[in-house]
Amino acid sequence: MFTRHHGVWPKELPKTMTLPKTSVFTNLAVAALRYPDHPAIIFYDRVMTYRQLLEEVEALAGYLQEKGVRKGDRVLLYMQNSPQYVIGYYAILRADAAVIPVNPMNRAAELEHYISDTDARICLAGQELAGFIAPLVGSTHLEEVVVAAYNSYIDPDTDLSLPAEVAAPVPKLEVPGLVGWDEVIGAGYVPGPHTAGPDDIAVIPYSSGTTGAPKGCTHVHRGVMATACHRAFWNLSTADTVQLSTLPFFHVTGMTGSMNSPIYSGSTSVIMTRWDRTTAAKLIERYKVTGWTNIVTMAVDFLSNPELGNYDISSLKTIGGGGAAMPAAIAAKLKNLTGLDYIEGYGLSETMAATHINPPDAPKAQCLGIPVFDVDSRIIDVETLQEKGPGEVGEIVSNGPQVTVGYWNRPMETEAAFVEIDGKRFFRTGDLGYYDEDGYFFMVDRVKRMINASGFKVWPSEVESLMYRHPSIHECCVISAPDPKRGETVKACIVLTPESEGKTSAEEIIAWCKEEMSAYKVPQLVEFVAELPKSPTGKVMWRALQEQEWQDQASA
Ligand code: AMP
Repeated sequence: MFTRHHGVWPKELPKTMTLPKTSVFTNLAVAALRYPDHPAIIFYDRVMTYRQLLEEVEALAGYLQEKGVRKGDRVLLYMQNSPQYVIGYYAILRADAAVIPVNPMNRAAELEHYISDTDARICLAGQELAGFIAPLVGSTHLEEVVVAAYNSYIDPDTDLSLPAEVAAPVPKLEVPGLVGWDEVIGAGYVPGPHTAGPDDIAVIPYSSGTTGAPKGCTHVHRGVMATACHRAFWNLSTADTVQLSTLPFFHVTGMTGSMNSPIYSGSTSVIMTRWDRTTAAKLIERYKVTGWTNIVTMAVDFLSNPELGNYDISSLKTIGGGGAAMPAAIAAKLKNLTGLDYIEGYGLSETMAATHINPPDAPKAQCLGIPVFDVDSRIIDVETLQEKGPGEVGEIVSNGPQVTVGYWNRPMETEAAFVEIDGKRFFRTGDLGYYDEDGYFFMVDRVKRMINASGFKVWPSEVESLMYRHPSIHECCVISAPDPKRGETVKACIVLTPESEGKTSAEEIIAWCKEEMSAYKVPQLVEFVAELPKSPTGKVMWRALQEQEWQDQASA
């Protein structure tokens, strides 16, 4: 249903989207029919066409079925970005099963949690990760790990610098329970009919949500289809798009923007296993990349590359991202370099990536955008759950086809995560924001991320955004520190640019902030750090810094 928060919806676009009533795998089958010889994937200079991609997906799906995988079963996918990730993901869907994307940073305890929570019996793993999962074969109900060597999918003559796990040769496997990817694909299994439909489970990414241990966000094909399609409906993705895939596929932003959406459109994904700013610039030049979905930390690193000027990046037509606020100063630098507005979007693991996006022809700065097709998003009071009006800050709640059907096997947490408004079920995001008179949404902070300095509310992300304008600040994270007078005060953890190290003092930064922002927002404490803790998706883990601060203060 189309809602009232769409004042600026582009006139030429329909306001609601008719989703294909088919499985997500079908998108690949259709792309392979329409564009069989079109490059689907380019991986360190080796091209894989849509026809070849589909052939390998079919072969792996046949193997999975041979191993007893049946409709609705869960299969772990524990890999870095690679062609095998895409093949594995679509093969699991082709076999009518559900993908459990596992963060490659996860180790034993987390892996056990996924296995016991989902009853997965098979895991598709990158070879550098196989050693972490192998001990769980037999000791849990995991029965087999199919081990993929990324090296067999690259052009052996590539001049690109390879991350260690991509350079590593195909291993000899002598451990029981481990089988080689290349033999599995080469065996030529043929799968049975594909029967999954829009209401069957497709993907279960894990997230902590607003509280507690990682929970599986259950997404059915219809929901995954919604975010796979909407970029094409916005004309952000066509068969001519060449996408630089740098965000991890295990996380919904990369999964949607760099894998499902390109496959829906029949476009080309240039995949990087690990972020490297010079390789990224080379790939943009070499393959005339038109679209790049990224995150703040990647954009910052890309911009500060002294070699950037050696590369022609003029093919870029769209740069955007989501998952964290893009500071205005960084967006301005990107615009200065490319002439492009940063297209920011907003969503969560629970919403299979974007529920909001900035219209490409009318973006607003530091803005989540407007609700995408068929999304109804509101602002409610966190305590009373009453709906709020334009300009009033409250919790963002969303209803739409991409919203999770619930947390896997957790009815109580599912119940707590939703609120009913006007007879519809809205997901509580735990994020604080507001919408303006034009229907654009803005995020102020997360529900729990607020500094209360003697009654003055300070929103750390706003302070960070202001601080990013300081020329010596490479990265920063603002947290709360205990203060005898104000209860809490503002503290900034700062990574200086290499040129400024040892030359910029805390006093200088504080004096600068006093000029740039309201007095109550100015950090009273500044700590220079070598780096900020980051999640594998590149988000600064402010909670880790916050908890460390509380611990330090408690033991002081
Ligand atoms: P995840 O489940 O890891 O995707 O994290 C979702 C969270 O990322 C949201 O609840 C927001 O707090 C944050 N987030 C997503 N998009 C944005 C954005 N454009 N600006 C600021 N924060 C964002």
